[in-house]
Amino acid sequence: MNIFGMVVERLNEVDFYNYKVLCGEANEIRDHLVTCIENSKKLFIVTLNSQIFLKALELPEYNDAIEHATFHLPDGAGVVWAIKKHCKIITDRVPGIDTMQYLCEESKTRRWKVYLLGAKPDVVKLAAEKLIEHSVDVVGYHHGYFTDETPSREIEKLKPDLLFVGMGAPRQELWIHDHIDLPFKLAMGVGGSFDVIAGVKKRAPKFFQRMRLEWFYRWISEPISRSSVPVDVLKFYFKVIFDGKDGNCKKIH
Ligand code: UDP
Repeated sequence: MNIFGMVVERLNEVDFYNYKVLCGEANEIRDHLVTCIENSKKLFIVTLNSQIFLKALELPEYNDAIEHATFHLPDGAGVVWAIKKHCKIITDRVPGIDTMQYLCEESKTRRWKVYLLGAKPDVVKLAAEKLIEHSVDVVGYHHGYFTDETPSREIEKLKPDLLFVGMGAPRQELWIHDHIDLPFKLAMGVGGSFDVIAGVKKRAPKFFQRMRLEWFYRWISEPISRSSVPVDVLKFYFKVIFDGKDGNCKKIH
């Protein structure tokens, strides 16, 4: 049962505009990722929200990259709503940062090595130090403002199990797609999560998270992005209301 009193279904895979979205209870979804990693299935995970969805409509190469993801997670409230409306499937919201924290926790007992790629140099360093303080085996990190192949050479050498890429959309997913042959077990775009872990940015308070209003909190707290977040949210709802019924959302299994 979720906080709106609705019964969340068991794990389902849903084809949402050609993206394979994992739906169900958040813990079940995350456990499924853990099982896949343990079974050495290579994973490219996208945390699907309205901004990523709209960027993919604008940029065909980005759409192509995220269509190649193994799974999408229902990160945005709009995606959760659209899947319920058109597919009649109720899923928890599964935010990227929570999933990253969950996997880092699992990494301690499973002896997984972690690599962080993205954010400003001082921020990613601080995020790595914070995780190491919490006994996560961070084997390397690199900022997200590079123009050469230094990070991929390092990843090639270090062979991390978990590769978190925090360079914002579309750069992070495009980079993962272009480097899918690197030796990792899971790669996931995590947006501004390193800023939150480093403590330089605050996450929306629990109330906003529970009410699925994180986008609203971001809008009121970040003046620079004032115009874009609500416009994106509205564009997403209109797009999905008008063509969601045309077979763009169906249960795979
Ligand atoms: N970032 C980066 N390289 C870039 C552009 C951005 O590493 O070329 C980082 C930025 O420093 C921040 C993160 O990407 O840590 C997320 O940025 P944003 O807030 O735009 O992403 P969102 O959380 O909205 O996906």
